[in-house]
Amino acid sequence: MTQLRTVVAGASGRMGRALIAAVAAHDDLRLVGALEREGSEAIGQDAGLVAGIKETGIAISDDPLSVLAQSDVLIDFTGRSASLALSELAAQARIVHVVGSTGFQPEDEQTFRAASRHCRIVKSGNMSLGVNLVAGLVRRAAAALGPEFDIEIVEMHHRHKVDAPSGTALLLGEAAAEGRDVDLDTVAVRGRDGETGERPEGAIGFASLRGGSVVGDHIVVLAGEGERIEIGHRAETRLIFTRGALRAALWAFDKKPGLYDMADVLGLH
Ligand code: NAP
Repeated sequence: MTQLRTVVAGASGRMGRALIAAVAAHDDLRLVGALEREGSEAIGQDAGLVAGIKETGIAISDDPLSVLAQSDVLIDFTGRSASLALSELAAQARIVHVVGSTGFQPEDEQTFRAASRHCRIVKSGNMSLGVNLVAGLVRRAAAALGPEFDIEIVEMHHRHKVDAPSGTALLLGEAAAEGRDVDLDTVAVRGRDGETGERPEGAIGFASLRGGSVVGDHIVVLAGEGERIEIGHRAETRLIFTRGALRAALWAFDKKPGLYDMADVLGLH
């Protein structure tokens, strides 16, 4: 297999740096570009040095159009607005766009669907094997237990995280809603404060904790009368996400244009 020409967006971010190191070490991928937003202090610096590895000869750029024109794959862990803009450029370049960013709104789906008519997009709020397996367990538990079990999803992340609930919490909420055959947006309770009234039957609740350096903890609680089931996952290293993102890029390369998720990549559907 010839090496896939790979671009990492968000190159100086926490995930971006880990991705650059992982791409540089991978036999089937070749780093050909690294992107940061306009005005970033990282522009012009060597991507490898920013990532804490040896020099790669790839300078971090703020010009996605020219970088993507020479690539096969874009791995993008930036944020909502950057990923929406990049998906249109990835569609023009007809490449693979791996979207790890979170914080999207329901209406953003439209943008990714439109882009995926021309390119292959793999988008997931969590790229790890473990969380995608946990989502399958949550779907089964929610289907088996019925609405008399209240579902609450608790997540904790490091103090720098800017969106809540986490993309993973929403992914797990989607899995629970699918198990119950309901629409998550109509039953989700995203945080509580003040006089909230009783919990509505069938609600799927979210609670977000922020602090320290926690990579990502998630617990799905199914609380019934007299018993409680907890299904959880704790991320100990960002390597689980980089591994998943690289696997997604390689998997998607020979697929038809479309919008895929990690369950497609991992064969879990
Ligand atoms: P981070 O450290 O803030 O990194 C994001 C990087 O993207 C920053 O360097 C940011 O630059 C840069 N950026 C912003 N706009 C850009 C643009 N237009 N073009 C290129 N780069 C741009 O955050 P992180 O912890 O790495 O997380 C990044 C995203 O991935 C978040 O949405 C997070 O929730 C998500 N995430 C997903 C998974 C998963 O498995 N799906 C796992 C972990 C994290 P500035 O700081 O200068 O704005």
